[in-house]
Amino acid sequence: MSEFDYDLFVIGGGSGGVRAARVAAGDYDAKVGLAEEDRYGGTCVIRGCVPKKLMVFASGYHEMVGDAQAYGWDIKEGQFDWASFSGTLNSELDRLEGVYRDLLKSSGVDTFDARATLKDAHTVMLSTGEEKTAKHILIATGGRPVRLSLENADLGIVSDDIFHLDQLPKSILIVGGGYIACEFACILHGLGVEVSMYFRGAQILNGFDDEARGLIADQMRQRGIDMHSGANILEMAQHDDGIWVKSSHGQERTFSQVFFGTGRRPNSDDMGLEDIGVQIARNGAIEVNEYSQTGVPSVYAIGDVTNRVNLTPVAIREGMAFVKTVFGGEPTPVDHDLIPSAVFTQPEMGTVGMTEEHAAQQGPIEVYCTSFRPMQTAFAGRDDRVMMKLVVSSEDRRVLGCHIVAPQAGEMIQMAGIAVKMGATKEQFDATCAVHPTMAEELVTMRTPTRTT
Ligand code: NDP
Repeated sequence: MSEFDYDLFVIGGGSGGVRAARVAAGDYDAKVGLAEEDRYGGTCVIRGCVPKKLMVFASGYHEMVGDAQAYGWDIKEGQFDWASFSGTLNSELDRLEGVYRDLLKSSGVDTFDARATLKDAHTVMLSTGEEKTAKHILIATGGRPVRLSLENADLGIVSDDIFHLDQLPKSILIVGGGYIACEFACILHGLGVEVSMYFRGAQILNGFDDEARGLIADQMRQRGIDMHSGANILEMAQHDDGIWVKSSHGQERTFSQVFFGTGRRPNSDDMGLEDIGVQIARNGAIEVNEYSQTGVPSVYAIGDVTNRVNLTPVAIREGMAFVKTVFGGEPTPVDHDLIPSAVFTQPEMGTVGMTEEHAAQQGPIEVYCTSFRPMQTAFAGRDDRVMMKLVVSSEDRRVLGCHIVAPQAGEMIQMAGIAVKMGATKEQFDATCAVHPTMAEELVTMRTPTRTT
């Protein structure tokens, strides 16, 4: 008989926490408890990736109607009905939440619909008043969007709120130029909202390949998004006709809504962590080693609360590595190298490995890049361009980075990511026969370097 109520107590029922809980219980017979204060499924399922991707699909139909006409279909553009879409969206999220609850139940995990804090290295206090002890505690509480610290900032919304709007605004100012800002700018524009963006840098999507983000910015502008670089909000206030905003680049404008896409913060506050000796960085991230273990040996943390790579599949892998380490007896460090990812702008970006700028700082490189009007939209009379780029080491010929801007780039980069992760060389890409006619065939047919540095 264990001296603890549980072998493992997980705090947070998002993608990472749920995976760790059910694998520990299902595959290793661990006695597991899990507390979630909000909805099961967490950011990804309830207010992130999943509803966002469904909105990406919804907004994509706008352009498809024009394309279908060009392809000979007698079809008329109608109005987008937000109420109808969001009703179906919310039913789908309810269904997915149910799936998550069922997965935990069928794995034998005890669930508590409560907020949990830590009393000591082995004791969790629940907002229901109960206390539970556990040999290991896993914190998987995720993160939350943050507004700028500005008077009246609460007049604006964040990504969590967008799925609960009663109606879409006529116009919106999106502040920020990162993943969330760019994705929602494209989504809302596609759904018929007049979108303006203020971002403080010279370009959107900081940290991504310069040529790729330049092309996405061009295409966003071309579609009609009103984009302002070097711009930030200085003041905001409620006026009769909307939210008035004064900007750092000398504009005073009024928008129906203001959306802060200005980053996220780990959910580590008021959990009693520092009191028991868990180190927290200034940005709120729980500090962990390569096994996701904090300085308190029985306490581990995974996912966005550790602010390593804030992506759902990474949180899941961190959860799996934790379970293998602690319950499988196989110390498994988390591999954060060469993670493919996608930004669901219109057009999408898929990326893996080093940007051209980063790679050029590491050693000599060859860059193979092509940009062209893809067949499907060119036929429909659109000027959209796509881009395929490989960054290759001149020394060992390895493909160090692959960057794709194109419809379905997320799907393409999943496949290219396997080759890059395996260490494929440019010659191995070239030895692969093209699939014709596709956009992605360019990845194996670029013979001459565009530049060498
Ligand atoms: P990002 O870090 O991508 O972007 C934050 C944006 O806010 C940047 O443009 C940043 O500017 C700006 N910003 C930050 N502070 C200020 C400030 N004080 N004033 C003005 N602008 C400011 O964060 P997101 O919230 O968009 O996304 C968070 C994370 O979630 C991502 O990093 C990603 O890991 C994940 N995510 C992944 C998605 C996917 O896989 N498709 C989709 C959505 C999110 P600057 O660049 O100048 O610092």
